[in-house]
Amino acid sequence: MESSFTSKDTYLSHFNPRDYLEKYYNFGSRHSAENEILRHLLKNLFKIFCLDGVKGDLLIDIGSGPTIYQLLSACESFKEIIATDYTEQNLQELQKWLKKEPGAFDWSPVVTYVCELEGNRVKRLEKEEKLRRVVRQVLKCDVTQSQPLGSVALPLADCLLSTLCLDAACPDLPAYCAALRNLSSLLKPGGFLVVVDALKSSYYMIGEQKFSSLCLGQEAIEAAVREAGFSVEQFEVISRKYSSTMCDNEGLFSLVGRKLSKSV
Ligand code: SAH
Repeated sequence: MESSFTSKDTYLSHFNPRDYLEKYYNFGSRHSAENEILRHLLKNLFKIFCLDGVKGDLLIDIGSGPTIYQLLSACESFKEIIATDYTEQNLQELQKWLKKEPGAFDWSPVVTYVCELEGNRVKRLEKEEKLRRVVRQVLKCDVTQSQPLGSVALPLADCLLSTLCLDAACPDLPAYCAALRNLSSLLKPGGFLVVVDALKSSYYMIGEQKFSSLCLGQEAIEAAVREAGFSVEQFEVISRKYSSTMCDNEGLFSLVGRKLSKSV
């Protein structure tokens, strides 16, 4: 009955970027819960970054994994983006796409979809080039550390983004709150916090491999964000479940908050 939360070491040894991409981001014509969720996430991110005025100079994406979908609208509103992750294999997979190396994951259906959302002002290839230009660095990160990016000298960010990472990285609510405080040290006072994650999920699967997820609902998430020194400006619920073989979530959410000036 008692099972322990997935450790950081397990991410290093068992998180397969390729399998993750194929299972969750294979955005073909096939109808699936995963595709439906991805469309919702892209719409929410489009709204946040292109309509709601979340913009600035520097955005740091925390726990990027091997994915770039979360940056497609953000790259229209930020001059520079830094992508980060805990595992080397995810950073390498990201670099493969950024450097157009052979065997990189094909994000083109996802990029095309975002171009449509944004009114087809730019074509897919142009958007891909833009994102590749705007992503300036790819760095190692650990949200459990008080300095999540170690000792690299960076200006404070105007926005922190984190998609589907904190539920995976934090074994309990105190750890979740501590991670948000750690991240806050990278952000300007008044800066934006954008979090996207699953609601009430206790695990997710990548093929046969099971990863823990911290099971949180809206109230607990909002309370943790406030306790960590942010306001909550927006909380949108996406009432969609992943396929039952993949994850036991009861929806997803996107949250926009701001770092309060007197927070630590
Ligand atoms: N952001 C991507 C990937 C989410 S998968 C997406 O939206 O699909 C969860 C990610 O959290 C993995 O890439 C994993 O390496 C990362 N992760 C796990 N523990 C972490 C930690 N302590 N610090 C930072 N990232 C962590």
